[in-house]
Amino acid sequence: SRNFWVGGNWKMNGDKKVIEGIVEFLKAGPLDPAVEVVVGVPAIYLEYAKNLLPQSVAVAAQNCYKVSKGAFTGEISPAMISDIGVKWVILGHSERRHVFGENNELVAEKVAHALDSGLHVVACIGEKLEEREGGKTEEVVFHQTKAIADKIKDWSKVVIAYEPVWAIGTGKTATPQQAQEVHKKLREWLSQHVSDKVASETRIVYGGSVTGANCVELSKEPDIDGFLVGGASLKPEFVQIVNARK
Ligand code: 13P
Repeated sequence: SRNFWVGGNWKMNGDKKVIEGIVEFLKAGPLDPAVEVVVGVPAIYLEYAKNLLPQSVAVAAQNCYKVSKGAFTGEISPAMISDIGVKWVILGHSERRHVFGENNELVAEKVAHALDSGLHVVACIGEKLEEREGGKTEEVVFHQTKAIADKIKDWSKVVIAYEPVWAIGTGKTATPQQAQEVHKKLREWLSQHVSDKVASETRIVYGGSVTGANCVELSKEPDIDGFLVGGASLKPEFVQIVNARK
């Protein structure tokens, strides 16, 4: 019942030419029509990419602020994202948290406001290497999830992306067993602290060095409902990742 979901997070990469190339391989596909595909585009290219991409590929902003307008130089709001016809935003990405200092409270406020504004949200969580090594993985991801759960009521437009920080951009993918274990625990947490319905219906996708070579094994795990892909989403291999369950 949870539709497989695959996101490409382009991060701060690409230009018009590069985007045209990505659009070409996405159009060529073929992309499994049963999979929900979303690409996270730098804000300045959201409209450009949206106009070129096939209808079947949705677009996401990679960040937004927690209010709809005002004196917040350099920020964009969910209202602006909606205004150009973009339906998704990625929030709480590890790089936002650790390079730009966003804490659980701010991420949760952003998620709540984006949902209130009608956007779909990819809410990213994940532990750092020292936290995993210190046996704190569950504590960290539960705490991140709780901050969000405390501020939202409707989970129907939320996809949770579990992205262990040590796996992002490192080539060190979590094993299918490591990812499955955390996804299962997260689902149990949702069941206990939100509802059984939210636990069974919310997509929990994995991110961190996902490639064409490892996506099939990961996709077989029962609680892995898709992927959030960084580096490989800029390459034709992204098509293979979309089709991992085919
Ligand atoms: P990589 O796939 O490049 O490791 O990045 C993962 C990620 O951060 C997706 O949001």
